[in-house]
Amino acid sequence: MIRDSYWLDMPYTPSGPLSGELDVDVVVIGGGVTGVTGALFLAEGGARVAVLERREVASGATGRNGGFMLAGTHEYYVEAVEELTDLYGADGRRMAGEAWRIALENHDLMAGLMEKYKIQCDYYRHGSYVMAMKRPDRGSHADPLERIVRSYNLLQEDGFDVEYLDEDRLYGIKRSPQLAGALWNKFDGELHPVKYVRGLASAASGLGVLFFENTPVTSIARRGADGNGRGDAGGRGDAGGRGVSSVSRAGSGVSSPGGLVVQTPGGRIRTQHVLLGMNAYTPQLDARYERRIIPQRGQVFTTEPVSERLFNGVFYANDGWEFWRQLHDGPGEGGRLLFGGGRNHHIRAERGFHFLRRRGRQIRTYRGYKERPTRAVQRSNDRSFNSTFPHLAALGRSHRWGGVMGFSYDSSPFVGETETPGVHIVAGFTGRGNAYATVAARMVSDRLLGRPSAVEDQFETVKKVFDPLRGGIDAENRRR
Ligand SMILES: Cc1cc2nc3c(=O)[nH]c(=O)nc-3n(C[C@H](O)[C@H](O)[C@H](O)COP(=O)(O)OP(=O)(O)OC[C@H]3O[C@@H](n4cnc5c(N)ncnc54)[C@H](O)[C@@H]3O)c2cc1C
Repeated sequence: MIRDSYWLDMPYTPSGPLSGELDVDVVVIGGGVTGVTGALFLAEGGARVAVLERREVASGATGRNGGFMLAGTHEYYVEAVEELTDLYGADGRRMAGEAWRIALENHDLMAGLMEKYKIQCDYYRHGSYVMAMKRPDRGSHADPLERIVRSYNLLQEDGFDVEYLDEDRLYGIKRSPQLAGALWNKFDGELHPVKYVRGLASAASGLGVLFFENTPVTSIARRGADGNGRGDAGGRGDAGGRGVSSVSRAGSGVSSPGGLVVQTPGGRIRTQHVLLGMNAYTPQLDARYERRIIPQRGQVFTTEPVSERLFNGVFYANDGWEFWRQLHDGPGEGGRLLFGGGRNHHIRAERGFHFLRRRGRQIRTYRGYKERPTRAVQRSNDRSFNSTFPHLAALGRSHRWGGVMGFSYDSSPFVGETETPGVHIVAGFTGRGNAYATVAARMVSDRLLGRPSAVEDQFETVKKVFDPLRGGIDAENRRR
């Protein structure tokens, strides 16, 4: 049994680290789905781009997730409607609809990139099933069927391709005696996240993007008159003022708000813009995101391969605390089962940091960003798997792993320019990077390239919902 991601268990040769000095139009920090996609879009638009990745491309959450391509910001559509109505009033329902449609746009963009760059990444579009279990688990709604039925009704009214499945129909599809009913979102899909992102990276390299792996960024500073870094442009010291100047660099088409210097141990890069594609790790470089993005660990295992195809599609149960799918890695039509969850039984331990109130002050307790799977959560996972699939309980486990997600307080990502001119962010996916990272990277790259953004034109509420400067987190009140 391997204690690391199944997806990353494949040969890979990383590019070398940065050494010396360089000038580019945009530095992308982070080589996950966000950073690599952003770099690719920028290079397609003619920008000179460097990606700096602390470890290897796809080694963060991108290489550790379930590979689900789910539409939406929340587990239940009804919850998105309720939360956005709370936050924004009567527009909430329309905004929830837009949030779902933006994710469908994201899905189409991903599928388009696979086709354009001929990326083989086990992509299938059999839909997702949001299920109510007969045994609701800790932390989930007392009546998940009510959430599912209301979501189904709202989604149907709003024109989405969904179906409701009762217990009998569900057993035929799911082969588990534990299910009470499900919402089938026919538009969702699945993929092999590492094959996908490394495929994008090689396409981006082909367009001239420079990749530097094993290259941690240590600071972002504003450039002084002599071209050297002066002051902290990324974190505590805000350089003040907002707004990208409309001056264009000759040739690249990238607007120039002023020079930035990105520092790494072996060298530094002078650049016009920085794209933070670090998701959960953003607060480590930019402290202003400490209260906006909370790291949360998620844990998963895969079984030994099963030669039969047990089911297609991807499955979410107990308000999303548990999820599973069968991979497409053979033999024949079959594949391993991937099963994740258990966080709800160990919420505090699975949080990267949280805030405690002591003598009237909030204190941050730091637990780090550990990716190694833990015995306690994996045991909870095993128990859930065995009770959901009693006939498969004896299957051996091939890989167990963890990864760190970046949660926002309202489940929507942060997309756009930060308080520091020239420093942009795409992060805070709350476990849904495959739903929003691509479309968000597109929005930011369009802005940097000075092009109108089709996404922003089509979905006018996006600026509000994805506002990169919106409020901080009240970590103690967050359910997850
Ligand atoms: C167990 C688990 C299951 C999940 N399941 C799903 C799912 O099924 N569907 C879905 O949509 N989402 C899922 N997610 C969430 C999804 O993986 C993330 O939303 C997505 O991968 C985020 O991508 P990213 O590129 O923004 O961040 P990451 O993939 O985390 O990439 C950030 C990168 O930044 C690098 N980095 C950090 N600091 C620095 C620095 N100082 N200098 C240079 N580089 C740095 C990191 O090494 C990392 O590679 C899951 C996550 C986990 C952990």
